[in-house]
Amino acid sequence: MPNVYNWQLGREMSYPYEAAFPDWQWAFVFNINRCIACQTCTYACKSTWTFSKGQEYMWWNNVETKPYGEYPRFWDAKILALLHDAHQQAGEEARWDTFHKDDKAKPYGTYEGLTIFEAAERQAPQKEVAIGYEPTDDEWAAPNLYEDTAAGAISHAGDTTLEPTALPEHKTWFFYLQRVCNHCNFAACVAACPRQAIYKRKEDGIVLLDQERCRGYRKCVMACPYKKAMYRPTTRVSEKCVGCYPRIEGKDPMQPGIPLETRCMSACPGKIRIQGLVKMDPDGNWAEDRQNPIYYLVKVAKVALPLYPQFGLAPNGYYIPPRWAPRPYLRQMFGPGVDEAIERYVAPDRELLAVQQLFRATQQIIFKYEVLPGPKVFEATIRGRPWEMFDDTVIGFNKNGQEVVRGKVQEPQHVRPDKHYNSI
Ligand code: SF4
Ligand code: SF4
Ligand code: SF4
Repeated sequence: MPNVYNWQLGREMSYPYEAAFPDWQWAFVFNINRCIACQTCTYACKSTWTFSKGQEYMWWNNVETKPYGEYPRFWDAKILALLHDAHQQAGEEARWDTFHKDDKAKPYGTYEGLTIFEAAERQAPQKEVAIGYEPTDDEWAAPNLYEDTAAGAISHAGDTTLEPTALPEHKTWFFYLQRVCNHCNFAACVAACPRQAIYKRKEDGIVLLDQERCRGYRKCVMACPYKKAMYRPTTRVSEKCVGCYPRIEGKDPMQPGIPLETRCMSACPGKIRIQGLVKMDPDGNWAEDRQNPIYYLVKVAKVALPLYPQFGLAPNGYYIPPRWAPRPYLRQMFGPGVDEAIERYVAPDRELLAVQQLFRATQQIIFKYEVLPGPKVFEATIRGRPWEMFDDTVIGFNKNGQEVVRGKVQEPQHVRPDKHYNSI
């Protein structure tokens, strides 16, 4: 297989195709700390794209509760187990060397284990381009099954009483993981399709599946470790998230010609989501674009991290990890940048606090932001260190450079005048 450079791994890796990158890349940041699991995103997608016969179990966007839930059931536990077995058989260890993590080309250090492509190469004879599996019908059938019924430390494996944990002490933790297709740089679905029915668009890096070419072999379903390629029995071809490409192209009649955030992003009442496009260099690195909010959050503040980077797909979804979950669990899920990301998030600097106000603030994609300084409004000590808050103003600009949103760090308060007391 050819070698390609994966910046999330800080090294070259093998992939079935030569490296080829789009001009712009569709990407998003989700702040896990703010999600309320309302599933509005899930239904925004379903009511737009997957409401037809044969799509009943097709949730292109889903929100699952970790560590108790997954959709399809057990997806990440299963792929992690396969990867673990592959390391055992190869006598290798899945570890990160974080010594050079301040090097721009390897912000998380270097992954020294096997990706899902490299693990497949070690199989003799090699059966697939990536290790994977096809979920069963049962695993696809029921999202969010008992996920939020905290069983706590007093329940045991096989115990079906689901007795809740008791106050005053919580021994149970969980968080919500929001998931859509990552429109990966090195997509396993693209790599695995024998019909070359799946392709990555040059203009925005969205990964699409050509249903005319697809023959329903389900190699994409098997290979995608995130399980975001799905099979539709009524048409006998596969389908996947389309990145709401008409909105990215500016074809939504709501604002013709203007790139808009996708349906699942723009519907989020928890304001946990921001989606955008990042400019790519021909070598697959992100072009320096300091004032692009996604670039800032991922590359400058380093507060948002890829999901399971060790799989080797260079996914384009990034997550601000939850503050309260055990660090080893989070490091396995988001890589070695977790501790630094949480430190930044817990005591954000002025710019990070301002940029956070842009999440879900407009349906238009923000290509650039500016921060105007405001007065100091609060000070505190966080983790033994002094911390100050300023009421700065953040302004977001669309693709044409027009201002589309302006917000302040401090939530504005509106006092209802007496004459409207208790009236609408
Ligand atoms: S709409 Fe937003 S807050 Fe609600 S579940 Fe989805 S990501 Fe979470
Ligand atoms: S998340 Fe899965 S379906 Fe989406 S591009 Fe990556 S490999 Fe393909
Ligand atoms: S980007 Fe569009 S198609 Fe993809 S999950 Fe979100 S709403 Fe669905």
